[in-house]
Amino acid sequence: KEEHLRKPDWLKIKLNTNENYTGLKKLMRENRLHTVCEEAKCPNIHECWAVRRTATFMILGNVCTRACRFCAVKTGLPTELDWQEPERVAESVRLMNLKHVVVTAVARDDLKDGGAAVFAETIRAIRRKNPFTTIEVLPSDMGGVYENLKTLMDARPDILNHNIETVRRLTPRVRARATYERSLEFLRRAKELQPDIPTKSSIMVGLGETKEEIIEAMDDLRANHVDILTIGQYLQPTKKHLKVVKYYHPDEFRELKEIALSKGFTHCEAGPLVRSSYHADEQVNAASAA
Ligand code: SF4
Ligand code: SF4
Repeated sequence: KEEHLRKPDWLKIKLNTNENYTGLKKLMRENRLHTVCEEAKCPNIHECWAVRRTATFMILGNVCTRACRFCAVKTGLPTELDWQEPERVAESVRLMNLKHVVVTAVARDDLKDGGAAVFAETIRAIRRKNPFTTIEVLPSDMGGVYENLKTLMDARPDILNHNIETVRRLTPRVRARATYERSLEFLRRAKELQPDIPTKSSIMVGLGETKEEIIEAMDDLRANHVDILTIGQYLQPTKKHLKVVKYYHPDEFRELKEIALSKGFTHCEAGPLVRSSYHADEQVNAASAA
């Protein structure tokens, strides 16, 4: 039955073909860099790159050791570590004149430190070259190893973002290896390590969760001191991925946002096209003003 679920109109947005960021794409290729914006064919790329001056880099390669059932990133054994990558990311942030940068990474379960050292070095390199750019990191649980999280938090990002992705009940079906509890613990510990750094998480809806379960996830995040929440519509990247069970109406997103704010999140973005890094530049200010 789900196969016949049609995409509603509010998701049919026209991609801007008159792209004035072709030069930026070339810059990425020349520097052997990957962005989620391009790889996930994110519909917000024009707004983010050209207007808001924000982008999401994916470091540590573009091959992941995990295979989450909603994610389009390739699965396999990643290549060796590239210690020059932090400098190349930092230089691209400078050339793109970014106000806000999100740095995420594939899960490197093949590495003892989960890639934490390169991640931390990327934060430092960006900071050195771009002292006015705010930096948000979006790591995997890095094996749930406390030391890895500490390495990352010691580099002092402006926002620590770690996605629970879905509600408790659906986690085993949706995410590979990661667990709901471990992600909550990761967020709680990040806050314990650096209490003044805002923490953030994200949920995709449309995977078959109930409203009560979404609210329970909000409560769980708040109980672990998470400050910022984003909620977006899950879209199936290929036929092999999980099917969309429901398309939420923009009004339902508005209601979820209201509920989230009433729970004490300092900032919540909720909407059909909201992605983890969408309007992230506004959240830095919202969080620090809180
Ligand atoms: Fe890139 Fe995130 Fe913007 Fe999409 S919402 S274009 S992934 S920064
Ligand atoms: Fe995708 Fe991240 Fe899961 Fe890897 S760990 S498959 S990059 S969501």
